[in-house]
Amino acid sequence: MENKSILVIGAGAVGSAFLESSIGLFKKVGIFDGDIVTKGNLITQPFYKECDFSSPISKTAFAIKKLNSLDSGTEYKGYERYFTEKDFEVMKEYDLIVDFTDNIKSRMIINEGCVNGGKAAVFVSLNEKEAFLYFYRDSACFNCLLRNSIGHVKEGCESVISAPEKEFVSFLKENILEFALDRVEGGRILLFNLKNKSIFSSMLKKDNECEVCVKHVGKRIEDGFLQVCSSGIKFSYGKPIDLKKLSSVFADSKLYSEFLIFNQNNKSVLISLDGDFLFTGYTKEEAKELIISLVS
Ligand SMILES: [Zn+2]
Repeated sequence: MENKSILVIGAGAVGSAFLESSIGLFKKVGIFDGDIVTKGNLITQPFYKECDFSSPISKTAFAIKKLNSLDSGTEYKGYERYFTEKDFEVMKEYDLIVDFTDNIKSRMIINEGCVNGGKAAVFVSLNEKEAFLYFYRDSACFNCLLRNSIGHVKEGCESVISAPEKEFVSFLKENILEFALDRVEGGRILLFNLKNKSIFSSMLKKDNECEVCVKHVGKRIEDGFLQVCSSGIKFSYGKPIDLKKLSSVFADSKLYSEFLIFNQNNKSVLISLDGDFLFTGYTKEEAKELIISLVS
């Protein structure tokens, strides 16, 4: 774990509790928040209790100072502002993004940045009754979740009237660590009931009409994931492909247990079960078009 880096967006009640509980666990921790610490924060955010209020200080600046004094082994980096599209570049510096923001607008921007940049993310929400975690890694994105949630999904860390409970903070920390170590798969939903401590777990499927993910396929291809090699044009989708479904779309394709072959006018496509494509006789543009039509 010491060599992982994490970007924490939002250092309010849940974000600050997480920062305190995960001291010493990461190589580098980035903190994004544009808020100033107020006396009213102290009830729900005991992390800021040492603040003397002699002059205004941002949550980010305070957190960096406090964490540096407690933990010399981690590199802490602060961003004293709210996360916007201009900050997509910042995401590249980190292995994992954790979203503790309290509004859907920020959450959608973060989701877009993660999908386009291929970054793993955890979206955390909390209200007085339950905590919600959504894990994204090459999977259905947060927008897929919203599209299919029929209003059930918590939009962010809502304002709470007390500091997050210890049990919840350790649940949060443990699951984020497991995810950072690839032991939790992308697409996983976890709900933690704060009253009876029960956990509900489920997997989310990608929504084929999701504006954010579908756009991503085109972007990834343009970003050079399409490789020209001696045997043809290669593309790795990185996800399993439902070959049986594809074979019913393509007339004359041949389906084998591990792959699908499709021949047409001296052109052929070989698609493997785990998402590798090999095109022969195709131009790069034709291959691109075909991939987009196949996987979206
Ligand atoms: Zn999506």
